[in-house]
Amino acid sequence: MAERKYKFSWDLLGDIAKGRPNLGPNSSIEVYRLMQFTFRDVMEQHIGTEKTDQIFYEAGKLAGTEFYKMFSTNINDFNEFVKGLQKTLSDMGIGILRFEKADMEKGAFVLTVSEDLDCSGLPELGYEICTYDEGFISGLFESFTGRSFKVKEVDCWCTGDRTCRFTASAYPGR
Ligand SMILES: [Zn+2]
Repeated sequence: MAERKYKFSWDLLGDIAKGRPNLGPNSSIEVYRLMQFTFRDVMEQHIGTEKTDQIFYEAGKLAGTEFYKMFSTNINDFNEFVKGLQKTLSDMGIGILRFEKADMEKGAFVLTVSEDLDCSGLPELGYEICTYDEGFISGLFESFTGRSFKVKEVDCWCTGDRTCRFTASAYPGR
């Protein structure tokens, strides 16, 4: 692909203060979820479930990487990284982040996101839905540690839990 039309940059999000002097910077969660779930529906019809999940993961990962660059760069201390992340995620209404396990040496983490933007309150579906979040978390961890991470959601509102729980494991040797 020689030239790209949609390469991400924060500039693409525009000047919200200027563009929405009356409505302001916030919108409803329904609108955000409407976009996610209609994307999922149409993508699945075009390219199948597995590819759709893969794209959601990768898009989340890109978001996590960009999010890190925007909000978390120049932080070397893990606790400081976590504290800043918790505040930003809460301030932006994305979710309430907690760590249940953090083993930096092994690259093994367990974290929870409560009141998650993507899934909190959804009907029970019998499967985890937060693929975008998985990618998002992997992008954050990879940016912070410089290692490659596999992130998997193990509990979700959609599986009957009241928080989303993720495991993040560094690939060995990377
Ligand atoms: Zn979830």
